Amino acid sequence: MKEKNIAGRRTEWTAPYNSFNSWKGLMYKEHYDALAQGKMLPPVEASIDPSYLCNVDCVWCNSKRILHGDLHAKTMTEEHLLRLCGFLIEWGVRGFCFAGGGDSTLNPGLWPAMRLIKKSGRENAIITNGIAVDTYEKQETLASCCRWIGVSLDAGTAETYGKVKQVSPKTFDKVLNNIAAMVKIVKENDLQCDIAVKYLIHPTNAAEISKACALAKELGVAHFHARPAASKNIEGNEQILDFPMDVINKQLEECLAMQTDTFKAFGVRHKFSPDFQLEHGFSRCISAPLCIQCGADGNVYLCNDWRGDKRYCVGAHFPNPEKILDFWGSKQHWDLMNRIKVSECPRCTYGIYAKQIENAVENDGMCVNFP
Ligand code: SF4
Ligand code: SF4
Repeated sequence: MKEKNIAGRRTEWTAPYNSFNSWKGLMYKEHYDALAQGKMLPPVEASIDPSYLCNVDCVWCNSKRILHGDLHAKTMTEEHLLRLCGFLIEWGVRGFCFAGGGDSTLNPGLWPAMRLIKKSGRENAIITNGIAVDTYEKQETLASCCRWIGVSLDAGTAETYGKVKQVSPKTFDKVLNNIAAMVKIVKENDLQCDIAVKYLIHPTNAAEISKACALAKELGVAHFHARPAASKNIEGNEQILDFPMDVINKQLEECLAMQTDTFKAFGVRHKFSPDFQLEHGFSRCISAPLCIQCGADGNVYLCNDWRGDKRYCVGAHFPNPEKILDFWGSKQHWDLMNRIKVSECPRCTYGIYAKQIENAVENDGMCVNFP
């Protein structure tokens, strides 16, 4: 029988020391050791959802249950967002990612929160659709406060953009202009901020990957980051996505061929099976506490992938973020993790880190004492 060979997968990048390379998990050895011993340290990262609001309606959105459900439009006040960030900074969180469950840029508290984090010496990052980053002040705040910015473009033409995001196609050019403005600020001020054009591959936009990559290169961003939308990632939608793999793989190779010293392309596929279906490959929920998931509704959720789902609520950060210390690493927190059946989870953002804990730490598969 032909052996299943991970190394035989397609080339994802040519520069291995990059932010999308999950082997960076081995740099969290202290956290891995603690988790393997049943202890939780303060998380490396905080994933914060300042508001459950979005200005588009992507066909693949894994936050549909939030954006179209009871939590729709829940928003943190600026006062609470600043208090939460202040607590997380004191606690020792190093990276602050403002991301899903809506678009963070729709909460006016985002900008002062980012400035507070930057001033404290910690790092910000954001994943946004970029539509509302439309003034110099906002563009400058992101460029000067973020270690990286990911703008979800997800199309190579205005027409497809309009279809996959269910908005006016004219929005496409608006986003391109906003990206160009941030690139200009980063370059003029020599800022250490990696701007990435992001592309979530879905059957509906699979034909335009290389076109979007060429646009990204033209815009002058540092990275083009393509990765698949997960099949079965929307609760209540068990649809298996049928990806045209030949069309996709050919374009991802074309993207790699567009690289220069200052422009790198990434076709990230290692979190999925070769045909982009769910592939967990680990036995238990163990890596979630590398990150704390703070929802716009005032709750802390077990992980990014179950944000907004009450079954996976660990505790509340509202109104007192300090109370996080009462439940973080508690028996109740571990019990929730221990009850998780991985086979019932959607794509696990930190699944590769769970694999590393099981294989490299618990089973010493890399013979750690022999460099
Ligand atoms: S931009 Fe993000 S949160 Fe908004 S609809 Fe698209 S995937 Fe969902
Ligand atoms: S997706 Fe499942 S296994 Fe992964 S961190 Fe979340 S609960 Fe744990």
